[in-house]
Amino acid sequence: MERWFGREGEEREDIFTKDSVESIEREDSFVDESPSFSGGFGMGEISYSPAVSVLYATCFEAENDVLQVGDRRLTWWEDFSVVPKHDFMLVNPLTWSQQATVPEDLTEGVLGADLSDQFVFADSGGFQVKTFEGTCVVDSPDLHDFEKMQVMPEKLLEWQVKNATAGAILDFPPYRVGANSGATEGIDGMNMESWGREVFTPNLQQSTENARRAAVHREKIGADDFLLYNVLHGMIPFAEEEPYRYVKEWYSQISEVGDFDGWCVGVDSGNLGKLALFLGFIDEHIDDVSHLHFLGTSAIPARVVLEYWRNFSKDDFGITLDSTGFEVGSQYRSFFNPLLHGEGVMVSDREPNDPEKFSISEGSVPCSCAVCGHMSRVRGPGWPFKEKTATEGVAMNLHNLNMLLQRHRMVEGMFQSAGSGVVDEFERDSSTVWKILGRLFSDESLVELYECMKFLRRVDNDGFYSAVDDFRFFSKYDPDRSGALVSEKTVGGFSDW
Ligand SMILES: [Zn+2]
Repeated sequence: MERWFGREGEEREDIFTKDSVESIEREDSFVDESPSFSGGFGMGEISYSPAVSVLYATCFEAENDVLQVGDRRLTWWEDFSVVPKHDFMLVNPLTWSQQATVPEDLTEGVLGADLSDQFVFADSGGFQVKTFEGTCVVDSPDLHDFEKMQVMPEKLLEWQVKNATAGAILDFPPYRVGANSGATEGIDGMNMESWGREVFTPNLQQSTENARRAAVHREKIGADDFLLYNVLHGMIPFAEEEPYRYVKEWYSQISEVGDFDGWCVGVDSGNLGKLALFLGFIDEHIDDVSHLHFLGTSAIPARVVLEYWRNFSKDDFGITLDSTGFEVGSQYRSFFNPLLHGEGVMVSDREPNDPEKFSISEGSVPCSCAVCGHMSRVRGPGWPFKEKTATEGVAMNLHNLNMLLQRHRMVEGMFQSAGSGVVDEFERDSSTVWKILGRLFSDESLVELYECMKFLRRVDNDGFYSAVDDFRFFSKYDPDRSGALVSEKTVGGFSDW
């Protein structure tokens, strides 16, 4: 079953992706098999799907005017959004259910989502089920209740089908998660054999069963247009030998239980070596689906690795990624500063005591993006300081999202012209790509990026298992090595840097 999105020859608003010429050229390659979404999600592209936070759910529930500033709405998916309309979003009923009522129908009221025009990915909430106390999987429709964190996989699927273009099965992560914290315990730097089996094995069994139930139920209710994604976890500790062993075990078991349209993949986006290893694994093994969704992968270094891989991957996937990272605006009054390549700084009305700490302390904000421009016009130039309500927090989130999307677009454009050959010219200032990356990242991070690219090219040339044999994978907490996470055995370090 091969399906993807995009209506042939149709113009679309393309503000957040590339320039219109490239877009129109690409339209030719779109295939008109889309049952629903037609907003321009092409194969071979990576699209960022911002998560709709509980903040939005509570704003809508209260029916207050927090989101209305002047004639604009502080959203990204509406016609009157403060930023040019962006057609992608991620929803997760279980991240909302702790603080708001989960709406039955997202196309009415809450989001006003239009599934013919927007790509909505519905995460399953498996992580939340394992994170919050008192949650469980139930087998009766009467017991299914998002607010009580009682989830029946079949009812979850029905909610996803009704409210989203695509969605993931109810998966349970292969690692232990901290109760009520959302934090993961011991993902790295621990001996997998001594603690992992007791978590890995039962969670794989449960996830496999949930995947089977979802596949069976989709067929039963005839939801052929809904894109059902199986789940594969890449946040698995490196094993001493065969670092991919746990990924492979998970994959071979859970892929047997039904037909799926895509894989929802969890990766540790802070660990580029794991990301590269995982992408290599996908390259080697996955050729039966057309869609991939990466959970929590908005960090720019991860996007660089993804974009490089996408350039020469033999499989032409349609890829979406998500994260909630831009919400630090409402959480911590953190503002992605365009002058500092998008680094987060504090918006504070106190003078910072620490001279090393950069903050925006008074007056105007150093940004003229659509959000800041609009807020300045309506509220005045120092808008984050005029009031400190939820409205200012949401506006900062949207500014952050704007910055994030711009940086993603920059990485995308950069690799379109550079191609995979960029790995042959690894020297500071040797090419535009490395010049740009050199301004964004430290030398250490550049070396990491380079090693990941080299690994992926080896996978492409010689296959995954051959490449793995020649590279070493370092744990983040490896006492001997805090720098590069992937390194060729023969080359070792990068003394010329
Ligand atoms: Zn801005």
